[in-house]
Amino acid sequence: MKYEFGLVGLAVMGQNLARNIARHGFSIAVYNRTPQKTKDFVANYGDEGTIGGAMTPEELVHMLAKPRKIMFLVKAGQPVDDMIQAFLPYLEPGDTLIDGGNSYFADTRRRCKELEAKGFRYLGVGVSGGEEGALNGPSLMPGGTRASYEELAPIFTAIAAQVADGPCCSYVGDDGAGHYVKMVHNGIEYGDMQLISEAYFMMKELLGMSDDEIGDVFEQWNKGILDSYLIEITAKILHVKDKESGKPLVECILDKAGQKGTGKWTSQEGLDLGVPIPTIAEAVFARGMSAYKEERVEAAKVLRGPSATFDGDKKALIEAIHSALYASKICSYAQGFALIKAAAHEYGWTINFGDMALLWRGGCIIRAVFLEDIKRAFTNHPDLANLLLDPFFKEAIETHQDNWREAVIAAKRYGIPTPAFSSSLDYYDSYRRGVLPANMIQAQRDFFGAHTYQRVDKEGTFHTEWEQQ
Ligand code: NAP
Repeated sequence: MKYEFGLVGLAVMGQNLARNIARHGFSIAVYNRTPQKTKDFVANYGDEGTIGGAMTPEELVHMLAKPRKIMFLVKAGQPVDDMIQAFLPYLEPGDTLIDGGNSYFADTRRRCKELEAKGFRYLGVGVSGGEEGALNGPSLMPGGTRASYEELAPIFTAIAAQVADGPCCSYVGDDGAGHYVKMVHNGIEYGDMQLISEAYFMMKELLGMSDDEIGDVFEQWNKGILDSYLIEITAKILHVKDKESGKPLVECILDKAGQKGTGKWTSQEGLDLGVPIPTIAEAVFARGMSAYKEERVEAAKVLRGPSATFDGDKKALIEAIHSALYASKICSYAQGFALIKAAAHEYGWTINFGDMALLWRGGCIIRAVFLEDIKRAFTNHPDLANLLLDPFFKEAIETHQDNWREAVIAAKRYGIPTPAFSSSLDYYDSYRRGVLPANMIQAQRDFFGAHTYQRVDKEGTFHTEWEQQ
């Protein structure tokens, strides 16, 4: 027999995705660089469907029906190029290679162009949802050779997470578009996590609430406009106790956040394309600041902040924090979508933003009820310049902005760091200003560097000898 699908890389993601594919009735042949893992996988899960093991790339290729479809779930970077080179000698034009790892989108663009030029087909697929998602239904963000996606759609849409509107999988765009959207998804995830952490920190540090109390608040919030996977797990985390000390487990965890680089890539893209994405960038910087633990501990001994303690209305401030979280989240998503819009223009992708919002509605870490409102916004206005201009979100911010400002003011008054809340508010206040102080920057640039400026009252480029005026 010939297998319908090939999968390479049997670490946690590859194993779970292979099982998901097999469980949906598609025959699959697998290969891993270390052969023992292939043998173990077939021995452990071979009865979950039609699964065959290959010991070499050549054997895997010969086990597959033509045109072949081979998906890599190997470490991102050089290993993907290594695997492409290992398989190429045995492939024929028309065969498809698929990269399901967290590859940098520019690498995917390069690989796609190189392989398409040789007559092969290439897909870069963002896979979100971690190991649990891979097994039970991930969010899939495929980009690359469109014709190839159409052939693979029955498999991808079957294994993806399913929501009321359909599967969380649809074609994103050419070459690296899928991996780009996955990268921004991760950037937005950084933003969401930072915003939630700031809400937690305000309740803990400013209001002196216990973790159980804060957990109850998040549980409540998860029943309304903030209903999402990350709010849900935050509530659960806050109720878990450390078995040894009996303390809330989260309070036993060192406050140094790790990162693997997709938030940084997103922020760098914002800088490269000149798209302001301050909430996402602040979330990355906040993780960077957290890593300075020892220095912060020393600084805390000498640097003073406000000494006052909160004596206001606790219930009102919790409401304000809720508003700050919701409004900041809107700004963060507005930034992520604006970045993808600019990238689509820069790299020549045609992206349906409504469909994209739906991709994230299930299976992935940022899944949230809120994404249905985003889908509606882009379905109503496919060319929407910024999510903040959609009538629903405009109204939402108007409803919450007084509270949002109160939360940020309270944080500043009592010295609680909330970089993502604050920068989101500044994003909103900057975006809604017809006039910003950049005229002063232009004047300074012209003063010291003769960089010239444009005028508000006439066309042209101007320079002033400022000292002689
Ligand atoms: P991983 O730890 O990133 O990679 C391990 C796999 O890569 C193993 O199969 C390993 O083979 C193979 N590999 C490494 N270097 C290789 C090389 N030079 N040539 C051939 N194979 C090589 O595995 P993972 O966590 O399952 O992730 C797979 C991909 O999905 C990555 O790109 C990751 O970023 C992405 N991803 C992961 C998650 C997650 O939650 N883990 C979520 C979304 C996306 P050996 O067994 O021979 O060492």
